[in-house]
Amino acid sequence: MSPSLSQHAWGQPPWQIDSSPARKPLPKSVDFAIVGGGFTGLAAAAWLCLLAPEKSVAVLEAGRIGAGASGRTGGMVLAESAAGDLPGLGDVLAGLTRILGDLGRACGLSLADACELALPGAWEIARSGGIANSAIEWTDSGALRVVNEVPGGTLNPGKLVAGLASAAEKLGVLIVENERVERVSWGSGGELHFAYEKLRAKKVLFATNGLSLELSGLNDRAHPKLTLAASTAPLAEEQLQAIGLSQRKPFYTVDFPYLWGRVCPDNSIVWGAGLVGAADLGSVEQIDIAAEESSRMFASLERRIRHLHPALEQASFTHRWGGPILFRDSWEPVFDRHPESADGIVLGAYAGHGVALSVYLGAWAAEIMLSRRDLPEWGRIANSG
Ligand SMILES: Cc1cc2nc3c(=O)[nH]c(=O)nc-3n(C[C@H](O)[C@H](O)[C@H](O)COP(=O)(O)OP(=O)(O)OC[C@H]3O[C@@H](n4cnc5c(N)ncnc54)[C@H](O)[C@@H]3O)c2cc1C
Repeated sequence: MSPSLSQHAWGQPPWQIDSSPARKPLPKSVDFAIVGGGFTGLAAAAWLCLLAPEKSVAVLEAGRIGAGASGRTGGMVLAESAAGDLPGLGDVLAGLTRILGDLGRACGLSLADACELALPGAWEIARSGGIANSAIEWTDSGALRVVNEVPGGTLNPGKLVAGLASAAEKLGVLIVENERVERVSWGSGGELHFAYEKLRAKKVLFATNGLSLELSGLNDRAHPKLTLAASTAPLAEEQLQAIGLSQRKPFYTVDFPYLWGRVCPDNSIVWGAGLVGAADLGSVEQIDIAAEESSRMFASLERRIRHLHPALEQASFTHRWGGPILFRDSWEPVFDRHPESADGIVLGAYAGHGVALSVYLGAWAAEIMLSRRDLPEWGRIANSG
């Protein structure tokens, strides 16, 4: 059995998740069960209750909501998918804004404002090429400059988790924390087995992303890693200007070595790079970010950041953390029926591109569960690698 999520040694990001779902007993059965309380699961659950208030919906979360990638993400809001645009995908950023708007209106919350959503654009940066008057002129294995501007922006991940959870609860979703689904047996619908209890559901959404791959049918079909992030203490406005980030556009490299980041409203900066594998450990849940490999990677990331620009030489680091991420060789997300039953849907594997996509596709998954929409033509588990 995998260790409890509370045993993770993945460090703490700088933000909080200020939401504690009401503690309620587990019912015997529901119409829809969602396994995983990250952005995907919470958005799907809230959307289900918005569209079909007469249906019962439960989110089952092994730890606390946001315990996986969603509470630990970098918070860059990106368009499309890690594999670029996909047939029929639609406009992910417009979709995110619409979904947050519709959920917020239905329960008297201003979700986009509450999660500090801002969409000023995002910069792709690289060591060769560069646009005229690139705001970024950094040194990192070459001269790093802006090569392209794409749609995108930033949000506060802790506030998005809390906002989605609060909208979901207001719309009638039951959120149960600290209940790990150990296995699901299929008959007519699914029966979810916990350590001491069971729950029957007509349909089940697996929104467990880089964790519990056996449960979601993704074992050996996708690659889980832990990805690392760190934040610097707030900089003065002049320092932000000197390093080219006063426009607060998030950035990511399109060549290697990888580096991404964004400025937070208090002028601290979240930076990220580096993937830790779980080859010898069996599961990313067992990776300790204080252990040798991660410590070495954090030291290297911090050294790189201090050398990017003279204004960063004295930067001090306040937080180090990591979170699970799931990749496929094709970089396409998984969006498919569960390999063992058509009553299960599996959604995830967004790589480092899941903040907007998780909410957008979570709502799409809800519509499939209500038989109002079909699966997209991409996302098949069988195409995994
Ligand atoms: C450090 C980091 C930085 C990132 N930066 C960005 C970024 O800047 N921009 C971007 O677009 N994407 C980024 N990503 C990716 C993005 O955060 C994820 O794609 C997205 O959060 C995935 O959401 P999710 O709900 O699908 O999965 P998760 O948030 O991982 O949620 C899965 C949930 O399932 C629960 N769970 C697992 N197993 C079980 C079980 N058996 N029973 C019950 N519950 C279970 C977990 O506890 C977890 O809460 C980043 C990821 C990381 C880790």
